Amino acid sequence: MKPIHTVLALYTVQMAFFAAIWLAMAWHRLSRRATVHWGLATVLLALGMGVVLARPWLPATLGSALPNLVHLAAAALLARGVQVFVHRTPSDGWLLAVAGSAALVVAGANAIGAPHDVTVVAAGLGMGVILLRAAHDVRTGLAGEFGRAAAWACSVPLWIIAGMLGARGVAALVGVSGSGVPLDTGQTRQVALSLALVLLAMAMHLAMAAMLTLRLIQRLRHLSQHDALTGLLNRRAFGVRLAAERLRQQRHPGPIALLTLDLDHFKAVNDRWGHAAGDAVLVAAAGVLTGVARRLDAVARMGGEEFALLLPGTDLAGANQLAERLLEAFRDLTVDYEGEPLRITASIGAAVSHDPAEHTEELFRRADRALYLAKTGGRDRVVCAGALSAIDAPSAPGEAISPRRAA
Ligand code: GH3
Ligand code: MG
Ligand code: MG
Repeated sequence: MKPIHTVLALYTVQMAFFAAIWLAMAWHRLSRRATVHWGLATVLLALGMGVVLARPWLPATLGSALPNLVHLAAAALLARGVQVFVHRTPSDGWLLAVAGSAALVVAGANAIGAPHDVTVVAAGLGMGVILLRAAHDVRTGLAGEFGRAAAWACSVPLWIIAGMLGARGVAALVGVSGSGVPLDTGQTRQVALSLALVLLAMAMHLAMAAMLTLRLIQRLRHLSQHDALTGLLNRRAFGVRLAAERLRQQRHPGPIALLTLDLDHFKAVNDRWGHAAGDAVLVAAAGVLTGVARRLDAVARMGGEEFALLLPGTDLAGANQLAERLLEAFRDLTVDYEGEPLRITASIGAAVSHDPAEHTEELFRRADRALYLAKTGGRDRVVCAGALSAIDAPSAPGEAISPRRAA
């Protein structure tokens, strides 16, 4: 066995190994549509190189055409998988046109016995162009999701492989001597090229695995921080945001407002129309909250039909104003549930802290106490917590609160 055959066998085994990994990931439903594409592409890459190794036992025409045709199909599948992964509509027409025309030239050239250079030009340029597009899709498609640096890093192996294959095609086209020599001839240049392919293919698969891992981490992070029904922040993530805001308040003094909001008579919706109707109201309520909240505000579902809003840099007057806008939006809300128009109101407690030393739990306690007063005061209203001592005095709640009746 010549050294070149060892290298090509290594490449084949490596591709089979990665194919097994992608297909196992697809089996486990990890980015399934993309990993099925990548698994099948990698099976084809292993098969293609297997055919190269089997050339001594194959008719010359078949041994020359088949690996290139298989590799063209693999490149198209790989690129389509990338497009699926980055949520782009697959450009099937374009892929079919590029891979198909390259395949036609390869098949035609071998059928009429044209020089091997023609095959190298068509296959090299075809695969180069397809993989360039895949590299571009990775870089542009993932920049928003993973950041520009990570998107660039993931696309690098694809750019290099695309450049290498394309350059081989161009070199054969312009007649650079030796550029069209088949990989398995064993010349030093072909061994080096094959070794580079082994390393780059490994880098490409690792980059794709990194893309998958990053996506998985993002998903898990999102799941751990968001409420499954409404998509709002959950209680834990809201606590983290609030703690971060308190830290910022130590460096840049200013008010932080907290609104706690509870839907009124929500149980009656469940009891009358069913749990699913209640869920629909919760989702609609989340829409109202995110619609009214400003960009820097944090909105969370704390549990059940209770929500909270964190309003950085907002004083009591501002918090009250936003709460009134929320109440208004709830009054205007009609949730269409199976043709049934459901309506709901909300009660809000507002508290503001100017003092970074005040314990977060204390801020919550004041907002919750104000919410309790809004409920007992008749619902569909906001109560703003004033000074701690005043709102806590059960005998004179009116001194500390500013209840606003619904219009
Ligand atoms: P109040 O005006 O005093 O707030 O009355 P309420 O009926 O809104 O409050 P109560 O605490 O009595 O009822 C809350 C209900 O919310 C009870 C519970 O079954 C329901 N609930 C909690 N979580 C969910 C959920 O995820 N989906 C649905 N549909 N209902 C939920
Ligand atoms: Mg309620
Ligand atoms: Mg409640």
